[in-house]
Amino acid sequence: MFQTIPDPVPDALHGVMAAFRADPRPHKIDLGVGVYRDDSGASPVMAAVKAAEARLVADQDSKAYQALKGDEAFVAGLGALALGVPLPPRAAAIQGSGGTGCLRLALELAKAANPEVRLHLGLPSWPNHANLAAATGIALVTHRYFDVEAQRIDREAVRAAAEGTRAGDLFLFHGLCHNPTGSDLDDSDRAGLLAILRENGAVPLVDVAYYGLGDGLEADLAFVRTVAAEPRALISVACSKAFGLYRERTGLLIAVAESEAEAARVQGRLETISRTLVSMPPAHGAAVVVDILVDSALRKDWMVELEEMRARIFGLRGELEALSNVAPMLAGISRQRGIFRMLPLSPDQIAALARDHAIHMAPSGRINIAGLKAGDAARLAEALAALSKP
Ligand code: PLP
Repeated sequence: MFQTIPDPVPDALHGVMAAFRADPRPHKIDLGVGVYRDDSGASPVMAAVKAAEARLVADQDSKAYQALKGDEAFVAGLGALALGVPLPPRAAAIQGSGGTGCLRLALELAKAANPEVRLHLGLPSWPNHANLAAATGIALVTHRYFDVEAQRIDREAVRAAAEGTRAGDLFLFHGLCHNPTGSDLDDSDRAGLLAILRENGAVPLVDVAYYGLGDGLEADLAFVRTVAAEPRALISVACSKAFGLYRERTGLLIAVAESEAEAARVQGRLETISRTLVSMPPAHGAAVVVDILVDSALRKDWMVELEEMRARIFGLRGELEALSNVAPMLAGISRQRGIFRMLPLSPDQIAALARDHAIHMAPSGRINIAGLKAGDAARLAEALAALSKP
């Protein structure tokens, strides 16, 4: 039977990772994979996570299954962090395997509720958004979110896309720190879009992956809190970046329903869906997050370290902005947020950066700013300035 399986489509970022690893030059720069890095290039375990893990190993007395919805304290704790108040009765919530697992649950739920559901997605986006729609069998309706050359959100196209939604469709928002452009809609854009979706009976699906790394934890979560007041909404909150728990696959899906009774049905369906995907969600990352959120000293440590991470990214953006006289394509980078920027580069230029300057980035031209170590920003600007025209 396997002879019918076609060759796999290689993952572009894994190719970049392999090329970076194979590059023998000591001054090589890795701007590829989207993980936070400190100024030594490491992606370390956060101190609060280390402390919580040590306690967990000492105190954990069972590995028996938890509930279908996951760790109750995690669901309540991360839900309250995200929404700023305890989860309301009209919200269903379930632990998912990272942001990806939460988005998969959200799409499966939407499909179960409305087999004709379409996902409206602005491009460019995180590639897994489209992959997840395909895996779930949900029709994708795309629009242009961003003009890379002009470094500008195409607000007209985004608005037209919202106006084109039907009742029961999903419209995807990046909660903050848009991946891959770093350019977020502002409050009035979002309020306008939510009003259109509400009018059409379409549902906002908010992907919250980079809280704490934009303008600060509270500011970064403001949009989620607005969305939670909508008649219906789906909110995925990943712990991969903000807690550095990438490989522990930790996240929460919140489904806001119109009523408490509707929320109870949604909760049941989410648990049924999750039962055949993972049966029970992984416990470790969730237990770590609970410890951090519940213990005030650990929570403070976590927030301080998260703020240091944010400050480093902010500083790098300022450094790159100051270099825009060397490389004009960096102009405006300090107005963007999070770890990404899309550079308007051709495949040949991206290959030249790797070949001639040991600077490795995604084939789309997306760079992870946190991949820059001390002195690298100037090297990047000089390399960009030295590129021949496409
Ligand atoms: N959403 C966006 C926009 C992302 O960039 C990421 C990670 O890169 C995720 C969600 C979730 O990642 P994970 O499944 O590792 O939590």
